[in-house]
Amino acid sequence: MGRRPFVLVDRDGTLLEDAGYVHRIADYRPLPGAIEGLRWLQEAGFGLAVLTNQSGIGRGIFSEEDYQAFQAHFIQDLAAQEVQIEATYFCPHSPEAGCNCRKPATGLLERAQRELDIDLARSWVIGDKPEDLELARRAGCRAIYVLTGEGARRRHELDSKAITAADVLAAARLITQHSR
Ligand SMILES: [Mg+2]
Ligand SMILES: [Zn+2]
Repeated sequence: MGRRPFVLVDRDGTLLEDAGYVHRIADYRPLPGAIEGLRWLQEAGFGLAVLTNQSGIGRGIFSEEDYQAFQAHFIQDLAAQEVQIEATYFCPHSPEAGCNCRKPATGLLERAQRELDIDLARSWVIGDKPEDLELARRAGCRAIYVLTGEGARRRHELDSKAITAADVLAAARLITQHSR
């Protein structure tokens, strides 16, 4: 099997409601259209992976164990709805740490590319922050900016060529149109 196209999806504000540093299972809320959009992409032949900045760990707001428990709950809930996330990559560092994995740095995406054998030229990033688009630009994949989470508030930071969608389901439809 050769390299496969993936959709590399941000988590907080893109797939999940984000009141800030979401980490408690009681606060787990998928955004409208998120799970349906992922299923649509999966059925169109894309692999799915999550890339997420989790500076709450580096800032001491929650522990890595809290993150892992929440993430496991998320992955299981998706699996129960027949959506398979093949892998999740997270950056635990604070912005001040100067790591090479906090988006828009490409460390997480490069690891995903190696481990999942991703065809970047046929792959997409979906996210609610300009940093998600910058990540895609640096890595050589395409991107869709969603207006959930921080998306609407920071839309003015985008350049005019950015592709935007209301939510992950709308993004999924655009991706399958562009990939035909
Ligand atoms: Mg986000
Ligand atoms: Zn990092």
